[in-house]
Amino acid sequence: MSADGACRSCGGKALEVFLSLGKMPLPDAFLTGDALSGPEPRYPLDAAVCPDCSLVQILEEVPPEKLFVENYLYFSSFSDALLGHSRDHALGPIASRSLGPDSLVVEIASNDGYLLKNFAEAGVPVLGIDPAPEPARAAEAAGVPTLQEFFGTDLARRLVAEGRRADVIVANNVMAHVPDLNGFVEGLAVLLADDGLISVENPYVRDLVDHGEFDTIYHEHFCYFSCTSVDTLVRRHGLFLNHVEYFPDLHGGTLRWHIAKREEPSDTVRGYLAEERRRGVDTPAFYRTFATRVAKVRDDLVSLLRELHDGGARLAGYGAAAKATILLNYAGIGTDLLDFIVDRNVHKHGMYMPGVHIPITGPEALLERSPDYTVILAWNFRAEIIGQQAEYAARGGRFVVPIPAVEVV
Ligand SMILES: [Zn+2]
Repeated sequence: MSADGACRSCGGKALEVFLSLGKMPLPDAFLTGDALSGPEPRYPLDAAVCPDCSLVQILEEVPPEKLFVENYLYFSSFSDALLGHSRDHALGPIASRSLGPDSLVVEIASNDGYLLKNFAEAGVPVLGIDPAPEPARAAEAAGVPTLQEFFGTDLARRLVAEGRRADVIVANNVMAHVPDLNGFVEGLAVLLADDGLISVENPYVRDLVDHGEFDTIYHEHFCYFSCTSVDTLVRRHGLFLNHVEYFPDLHGGTLRWHIAKREEPSDTVRGYLAEERRRGVDTPAFYRTFATRVAKVRDDLVSLLRELHDGGARLAGYGAAAKATILLNYAGIGTDLLDFIVDRNVHKHGMYMPGVHIPITGPEALLERSPDYTVILAWNFRAEIIGQQAEYAARGGRFVVPIPAVEVV
């Protein structure tokens, strides 16, 4: 909900809370050794659904300048799977919309430019928009012009006043991060050329609930979308949800919504809307059993890790991601159970997990220190991680996957 207690999309006041995770540290606020003894702010984390427009959202709002600070360390290019998905994403629109030297592709939350680089290499002018300083600098260095700003109606109007309108706007995993949701969507409508295409990707809230992905609920994610809630939201701004694509393995289940100024809904999008009505994804009832299932995943994981630890096994974690912060803090798993966490992102090495203070190091530690079990905290990259760690497995290392259900592999 927004600061005045209303739904972020429709302004309704009847939000129904369905999950309370307690007070959590900011998920990406990794700590240096010097900071471990200092104060660590915590914020409540409650998820709610709006019965009026069906948008799922968290109640509390942490100001964006606190969330997207200099130590925001998520660089997209560290995942091979994500890079492959981006390339596939880029090539489709170039072929189907005949983009060329007179076109403009804008990406909001363009990170280090990993997606736009594909368009630029094909000779299509691009513009990245990203407020996080480090990734924006990396994008510029890679030849992707990037405005280091938050996107909204003001920025969209400024670009249009400069004569720039977008043939394609890509906004992947950003709409959930936006405090002023209606301002953001209005900005998309302003910036988009009349025959342009908006391509928005976000994790699918249906899968979040079906697969118990509670650790993807955190302060940086204000909203969790269904086709119904997106359809309602964009119509308010003269835009239409015309098509949807499903990527079951991306971030635990991701949808790509195609949005435009003319209403031309595909059979696929009609099918999704009908299916959501049939299953009640658009009503609070769908969310009411979630908290009980989440508590069971937590209890199963903690009992398994305790049992292994008490039996003399040494345990580590893989993936110092935001979701790991939520899972570890919610379950109360600290250095009593996990000796260390490995991550490919060198910027996180030598730092500590928020709240639980488990040290972070490079993946080579799995071979050097040979923990008996490694908990895959970045379970959305499960296949990629297990593939990269074939040598660790060959030497007898095992993996614990916490979500959707606790499993040893
Ligand atoms: Zn609402």
